[in-house]
Amino acid sequence: MLARPLLIGSEIYRRSTYGPRHPLAIPRVSTALDLIWALKAVEPARYIDSPRASLDELARFHDRDYLAALALAERDRKQLTDELRRRYHIGINGNPIFPEILSRPSTAAGGTLKGLALLHEAGGGIVHNVGGGTHHGRPDRASGFCYLNDPVLGMLDLLERGYSRILYVDLDAHHADGVQDALSHDPRVLIVSVHEAGRWPYSGTLGDRGQGQARNIPVPPGFNDDEMDFILDEALLPLAERFRPEILILQLGADALAEDPLSKQELSNGSLWRAVAALKRVAPRVLALGGGGYNPWSVARAWAGNWLVLNDLAIPERLPAEAETVLRALHWDHSKGREPPEHWFTTLADTPRPGVIRDAVRLAVADVLA
Ligand SMILES: [Zn+2]
Repeated sequence: MLARPLLIGSEIYRRSTYGPRHPLAIPRVSTALDLIWALKAVEPARYIDSPRASLDELARFHDRDYLAALALAERDRKQLTDELRRRYHIGINGNPIFPEILSRPSTAAGGTLKGLALLHEAGGGIVHNVGGGTHHGRPDRASGFCYLNDPVLGMLDLLERGYSRILYVDLDAHHADGVQDALSHDPRVLIVSVHEAGRWPYSGTLGDRGQGQARNIPVPPGFNDDEMDFILDEALLPLAERFRPEILILQLGADALAEDPLSKQELSNGSLWRAVAALKRVAPRVLALGGGGYNPWSVARAWAGNWLVLNDLAIPERLPAEAETVLRALHWDHSKGREPPEHWFTTLADTPRPGVIRDAVRLAVADVLA
């Protein structure tokens, strides 16, 4: 049993970007980690520099010819023909070719595999791989800014180790389609995704159970804190209680927050943190991951808070100067980033965003429990 949570990160996330006009032009993992250090919420002994997954490890899920194309794109992008780009959806469809196109996602995957190995060896505990959560990745192509699929690679590894009750919970604004399609046939896995209805990738609709083991909770635009709390209490916790997971993998995309530019959900980070606090108790082993999140301030504040919650540490009312400096150094080339409000620099917690629990949410909850 790990005495205290472990944090996995890498400097590769600081150095690399998807290019200046992409939603992932912004630093996310590096800013969250800088905040965590500035808050003195981790010590060197609990920080792990993420290994990279090997090609053999990646090939448990991904096709070797696709991995070879990613390696080629990283080595010399000019050699990647239009035909290969089209076949593997790289250099098109929002999946740019960038200098770390293989090494960065394989670091995210390596971190997830490392985290699970540590939890397995210790027999229990909490690990947070902030760069993980690439839930759209497909065996043979990139999708939705995801080149690989670290949650699927992680769950395949757990299945090989003999686990038979693996719970995956995904709070990202987008449906966990890559995970559902890869693993929802397997009764040893339960895949629960809360995401915005009517948004890309348009799957995970009401009643969609994939190949049996998926539970989808599509929520309407404007999704608020009270609705998230309702889903937590009435669906996520009861599903977990029934399934009695040996291990929980928690995808904590921060794009359902009100200030995110890629969704119409209206959550405050407090509702994500309440979910983290409650869900970390449903299994003896917990691997928390990152995911989406396209406003550099809201994603960094949410993810730093996730780590505090995983450690049972209080959220500070006002950030210490060192943490404020991290947030003031950010730039965001987006209309919402031109005049960032002062509280994005000085606080971690958003103003709560309560609201009415709408019928669509009640219906979705009833559906997954049926
Ligand atoms: Zn997302």
